[in-house]
Amino acid sequence: MSRNILITGASRGIGRAVAIQCGKRCWSVGVNYAGNEKAAAETVAAVTAAGGKAIAIKGDVANESDVLAMFDATQDAFGPINGVVNNAGIVAPGLKLAEMSALRLQRMFAVNVTGAYLVAREAARRMGTDRGGKGGSLVNLSSAAARLGSPGEYVDYAGSKGAIDTMTIGLSKELAPVGIRVNAIRPGLIDTEIHASGGAPDRAFRLAVNVPLARPGTADEVANAILFLLSDESSYITGALLDVSGGR
Ligand code: NAP
Repeated sequence: MSRNILITGASRGIGRAVAIQCGKRCWSVGVNYAGNEKAAAETVAAVTAAGGKAIAIKGDVANESDVLAMFDATQDAFGPINGVVNNAGIVAPGLKLAEMSALRLQRMFAVNVTGAYLVAREAARRMGTDRGGKGGSLVNLSSAAARLGSPGEYVDYAGSKGAIDTMTIGLSKELAPVGIRVNAIRPGLIDTEIHASGGAPDRAFRLAVNVPLARPGTADEVANAILFLLSDESSYITGALLDVSGGR
């Protein structure tokens, strides 16, 4: 069955890998990005080359009007949305909590928590059968950090992802009666540019010694799990927190 999917933060990393895999299934994709227009255009070209359709939509998930606009643009281009990947997320340079500024904490929670909640709210409004939608699948990007806590570097980020786990559990029950399945993926150390944005480009490889599978994961390995949760192959799964972390 063809799908119309909105992916937040799809210009790079895990979001881009999901977009391309959607393209391989001939699905249509709203490719949201924050500011990297060139990367977003490359994702759109890759989705199209794979056999799907895509549009790039600039917008900050922490901004409510941007979130509404990204849903509207995807719907206007392709029709009703039946899958949302709540993927946009940020880290900041590794610090102990005692060293973190209020500004850093505000931005971390604005993007990773408020942004993810706004996207989930809009998914509920657009896909819920109680509001004229046809149901669908919402996949939230949490992190193994939610259970590891990330001491000494990212306790702010880890807490923001704990909120995603809790939201997934509650929302899966709230939205089951209106035809929306809600699940979360908890990636471990995945080889993307997020580590460089936190000032440690080699982090995934450096810490891989602690991973039972002894290597970082790839964005495609995370995307495989997300596509499973988007598709009907997971039709009886909701409220799941799926670790894609090499056993870590
Ligand atoms: P990434 O490579 O840093 O890519 C981040 C993406 O999010 C980019 O497309 C970026 O757009 C977009 N973005 C950033 N801030 C945004 C905002 N405010 N509004 C809209 N889009 C925004 O990240 P990633 O590694 O693929 O991570 C994706 C998700 O997986 C995140 O939620 C992350 O926390 C989670 N995760 C990642 C790992 C890992 O090891 N990589 C592990 C656990 C969980 P631009 O290109 O325009 O900047």
